[in-house]
Amino acid sequence: MSSESGKITAPAAALLTAINGAATSFYAAQPGFPFHAWDDIVILTGVDLAKEIGDHLPFGRLRLRDEPLLRAALATAAVPHPLPMCWSAADLEREAQLGARAFARAGLRARDRTSDCLEGGLVTPGTLAITDALDAIDALALPVGPITNEAALTRAREVWGIVQPQVLITTGDTFAFLESRSDAPDVTHVLLLTPNEAATLAAPARANVFRVLSLPIIGTFVAGECSAHDGLHIAEDAFLAEVVDGNGRELSDGKSGRLLLSTLQRSHAVLRLDTGLRAALDRVACRCGEPTARLHIG
Ligand SMILES: [Zn+2]
Repeated sequence: MSSESGKITAPAAALLTAINGAATSFYAAQPGFPFHAWDDIVILTGVDLAKEIGDHLPFGRLRLRDEPLLRAALATAAVPHPLPMCWSAADLEREAQLGARAFARAGLRARDRTSDCLEGGLVTPGTLAITDALDAIDALALPVGPITNEAALTRAREVWGIVQPQVLITTGDTFAFLESRSDAPDVTHVLLLTPNEAATLAAPARANVFRVLSLPIIGTFVAGECSAHDGLHIAEDAFLAEVVDGNGRELSDGKSGRLLLSTLQRSHAVLRLDTGLRAALDRVACRCGEPTARLHIG
């Protein structure tokens, strides 16, 4: 993809200028710097990212703006071992808005009642990101933690029986456990899935399941399924998705290849990260009416 191709978005073009101006960044140490076109930027593997962060603790030389950092956690998706990552106040606010958008796409509205089964603390995607996003749409949050055994389910059921959530927000492990039960709650599920759960991301769509691609070192809510259940809409103002062949060359829409993702707005820029997923881009208008491009994973 070159800046002349017309496919590079305005935020990506602006970011390229910012990267070229950040002489002390990780990117300035790469071949081809300063970059004339987007695809001059090196494709980053999880191993490269782990090395950069390991060599330049705590968060690597990825910082583009000198904003105070308000939250840290561990990234585990698409990287070889857990890596420290961080958010500024502006990063957290954008994450909340992107989460609200993903939840609205799944039909969630103000005053709806939800329960999330994500972990807290260091783990990403985690319950803090969910609560922030639910705050942004004035929906009720009821964090109950992961449910992967009978004891956890019994405990959750007691409170679900009282609060009656309409939407459960889960990760792959909890969803699989609930699915294995004949008496699983018959509600809408929003499922946050990392590239470690590629098979679930690629599985046939289901009417009451809305999948969200979550890769926290890029974004907790990168892309999400809509009511048409025909691919995952990319938050194109916040992320750039590229699909390339084995040699890193751009593939045309509809062709499946390696999915690269870049942050466009975060204080710490992670660019052209190879997610390990195979996906195809779809820019045909979606039946739901949302104009953003979609990802078909698998
Ligand atoms: Zn749609």
